[in-house]
Amino acid sequence: MKFADLNLRPELAGAVADAGYTNPTPIQARAIPVVLDGRDLIACAQTGTGKTAAFLLPILQRLAGGTPLRHPRALVITPTRELAVQIHEMAGRYGRRLRLRSAVVFGGVGLEPQKRRLAAGLDLLVATPGRLLDHLGRSQARLGNVEMVVLDEADRMLDMGFLPDVRRILATLPEKRQNLFFSATMPDEIERLIRRTTHAPVMVEVTRRATPVSTVRQVVHPVAMIQKKDLLASLLRRADMGQTLVFTRTKARANQLVRRLEKSGRRVAAIHSNKSQSARTRALSGFRTGRIDTLIATDIAARGLDVDGISHVINFDLPHVPEDYVHRIGRTARAGRRGDAISLAAPEERVQLAAIERLVGKTIRREHVPGFTARADTEETNPRRRPQSPPARRFRPQSQRARTRASGGRS
Ligand code: AMP
Repeated sequence: MKFADLNLRPELAGAVADAGYTNPTPIQARAIPVVLDGRDLIACAQTGTGKTAAFLLPILQRLAGGTPLRHPRALVITPTRELAVQIHEMAGRYGRRLRLRSAVVFGGVGLEPQKRRLAAGLDLLVATPGRLLDHLGRSQARLGNVEMVVLDEADRMLDMGFLPDVRRILATLPEKRQNLFFSATMPDEIERLIRRTTHAPVMVEVTRRATPVSTVRQVVHPVAMIQKKDLLASLLRRADMGQTLVFTRTKARANQLVRRLEKSGRRVAAIHSNKSQSARTRALSGFRTGRIDTLIATDIAARGLDVDGISHVINFDLPHVPEDYVHRIGRTARAGRRGDAISLAAPEERVQLAAIERLVGKTIRREHVPGFTARADTEETNPRRRPQSPPARRFRPQSQRARTRASGGRS
């Protein structure tokens, strides 16, 4: 299928061509006609599939075909500030040739400039839930004209505890509206919310739920917890390590890694929820432009980050929620390119590794890095190869020390 088959207005087709897209991605090919038709949509799609354009292009088209009003006719609710900014920027990019007004509101920055922007009149509003409720409570945002609402990354909203906020926002919207739900996975609570909210929705599922894209090469390096920092520093010295995104389980571990790696010659920054908005924006734009080549992130901060050209994703810690593994490694191999996902797996993470492998439906290749491959680690990390007498006990004192040091909240 070609973009020309989707009957987009010339202004939008031009913007798509400017962006360098030749063909619609599967989610775009299937979702755009549904949205243009005015129907409710449930899309099971991860980031990296082109889902943002899948809802923005038809929304912009429908907005451009209607009469401008003072208050927004389209609302996008998304869980993180970074995503909100990205979606808003993309709306600006795709809608460049249309006379549409869009605004973005998110927490962690002053209310006043957002209030002025909201009062100035707009067609599309992109928002994180908490801040949008703030504005609604102060009557600074009015949603009585909303005809189309997008719930982006619905499963992540649930994980972050935003679902009550989302329900309150949805309750303020006009009954007669188009609902577009995007979620990488479909937990029961999301399914219930969708069932209650939508009317005769069209379901679109572009990949098997929570399946990594096939262009990501995945490997597990078994290693003792205590050796992870040295192994990471050694991996980062490899010549093929381009823009690299490193995931840690906690903010504390992200900060520790920055300190360790700064000495290694890499240009390193971290993003997590304890960082100020300006520090996060600075780190992210540095990573986009290449000024920073190693970005260390926690799951929530990095969710949905849309940075082109990430060559490697390194799981310094395995995630506790197996779906996060798929989200993490989806940051590389974007839009058909290849990418590498490397997981450092300590013996005490074997339960997480097994859960990940169950989810992705295969055993991930083990590769030992010389100097880091303790035999006991390997067998502990890969339960299928565990020897008759488990030698894990030898490692326990180390791992307990490592765990104590690593204590810190999930961000
Ligand atoms: P998303 O899933 O919305 O986060 O998009 C992932 C990436 O794919 C973004 O960098 C988009 O710019 C890019 N993209 C979106 N649509 C297309 C397309 N039709 N062809 C190539 N790249 C695309």
